[in-house]
Amino acid sequence: MSEKIRKSEEEWKKELTPDQYRICRKKGTEPAFTGEYWNSKEKGVYRCACCGNELFSSETKFDSGTGWPSFWEPIKPENVETEEDNSFLMRRTEALCSRCGAHLGHVFDDGPRPTNQRYCINSTALKLAKDEGKSKG
Ligand code: FE
Repeated sequence: MSEKIRKSEEEWKKELTPDQYRICRKKGTEPAFTGEYWNSKEKGVYRCACCGNELFSSETKFDSGTGWPSFWEPIKPENVETEEDNSFLMRRTEALCSRCGAHLGHVFDDGPRPTNQRYCINSTALKLAKDEGKSKG
C-alpha cells in the first residue's frame, strides 16, 4: 500500500493549476466535452494529476457519451476510494485518489460489463502516461 500524501491548501495551490486545484481539492467539476481525455483513445495509464498514483488503465475506458472520461474499474481497487456524497441534494458516490485524497469524480452503477460500474472522472484530475502498463500481462 502506498503511503498517503498530505499537503496544506497553500502547497496544493502552488503546485496545481487553478483548474486542478478547484476540481481536485475543492470537489469541482469540469464542463462536459471540454476536458483533455473525454474522447481520448490513447493507450496508457491514467495517473492522479496531483500525486501520480496509478488510477485507471486505458483498457477499461469506454465511451459513455457523457463528455467525461469513463472507466468501468480502477487499475487497482485500493487506488481509488469511494465516499457517499449528498451535496446538491443528490445521492452520489464520490471517487477519490486513495493516496492524496484528490476528488476525481463520481461512480454510478449504470456502466458496462463486466462490473456495471461507471467511474465518471474529470480529465483535469488525470494525467495520461502513454504506453505505460504494457508489461503487466
Ligand atoms: Fe492522488
